[in-house]
Amino acid sequence: MRTSRIARDTSKILAATTRGPSLRRTRAATNTLNAVEAGGVAKVGTRESESAVHDEAPHSDSDLSSVPDDALSESSDAIVGQKRKRREPVTVKQEVKEVSITAITSPKNESKSKKARRVPAKKITGKDGIVKVEPPPSWEEIYSLTREMRNENVAPVDTMGCESLADRTASPRDQRFQTLISLMLSSQTKDTVTAVAIKGMQERMPGGFNLESVIALEPQALNAFINKVGFHNLKTKYIKNAAEILRDKFNSDIPDTIQGLTSLPGVGPKMAYLCLSAAWGRDEGIGVDVHVHRITNLWGWHKTTKPEETRAALESWLPKGKWHDINNLLVGFGQTICLPVGKKCGECKLADRGLCPSAVVGKKTRVKKESLLVKTEENDASATLSETTVVTHKTVKAEEIKGSVVDIEDIGRHAR
Ligand code: SF4
Repeated sequence: MRTSRIARDTSKILAATTRGPSLRRTRAATNTLNAVEAGGVAKVGTRESESAVHDEAPHSDSDLSSVPDDALSESSDAIVGQKRKRREPVTVKQEVKEVSITAITSPKNESKSKKARRVPAKKITGKDGIVKVEPPPSWEEIYSLTREMRNENVAPVDTMGCESLADRTASPRDQRFQTLISLMLSSQTKDTVTAVAIKGMQERMPGGFNLESVIALEPQALNAFINKVGFHNLKTKYIKNAAEILRDKFNSDIPDTIQGLTSLPGVGPKMAYLCLSAAWGRDEGIGVDVHVHRITNLWGWHKTTKPEETRAALESWLPKGKWHDINNLLVGFGQTICLPVGKKCGECKLADRGLCPSAVVGKKTRVKKESLLVKTEENDASATLSETTVVTHKTVKAEEIKGSVVDIEDIGRHAR
């Protein structure tokens, strides 16, 4: 009973000294209070010392809040500003000077020179509403000059192209199969490498190079025959699968339709059109490979980004009689003169006649000088911190030349 009275008294004292929610309790104080409320007489002294903690807390808060925030931030900014000023006594400036020098080589035959322009095939809608495609104006001249150049230079495709790899002593069915396999191996692979792989199969495949032998061959053995060819592991799978499909769905021969050919694994439209033409002698479309796509775009006949777009663009106006020929023509031209890297425009009749807008007719040299200047603020003195000179070379194409073309004799004399 006595203990509970003391506890009640203590609670009253606490209620009198407590000032609402602004008081903060430490964990120790809370524990002490709980103990007292639970009836511990000996803890009263400890509680008194805890009330001192309660009293100090608002004091310290009001001390801090009595200092205006602005004053604090301004003074701290001022201090930082002073430090910043002392630490950044310099300004750094970058200067760039650029000089361009262009050396132009004109076509060798000045009398025939003319400005090469991109004139693509055009769609024209007639009065009857029928849309016709007008071919690029100089296409026949370009085509026949390219044929001339091709006849003067033998290209790998002439002796090792997929069309010429089938064994002419084999049965027509086996020749067609060999043509299909040659095409499947040729993607991402040089003609010379494809030719060696096909020759190896023709000479050493047990039972001869035909559909049945390929089906009977273990995948590892087939892979060994083609292991120098690009993506040979994948192609081994495709060839094995294709052979089984040919046996099961196409009466052990290759299909004679684009639909049938493209249903085989690894055979796309380009391969299908080339195969249909080479194996069955049917030209139902143009086989557009990287050379046909690249060179016809260089000539400005169209502006396409994918070989399939190029095929559609060419088929809209190129006479059907050339659908088979254009692939061999441009593959060989791309292998001998208009190379993907290092085009030989100096040897090209199209550059000479001003027929190719992409002909390289000169070089542009750009000299860029970059200086980093440091300037001190105190005495306004400046000094160069670093200096770099960058020299870049760019080829100049015929279509980029404005006005008259400088003669070849003037290379280096007329800087533009
Ligand atoms: S002029 Fe140059 S870019 Fe044009 S077709 Fe000839 S080699 Fe190719």
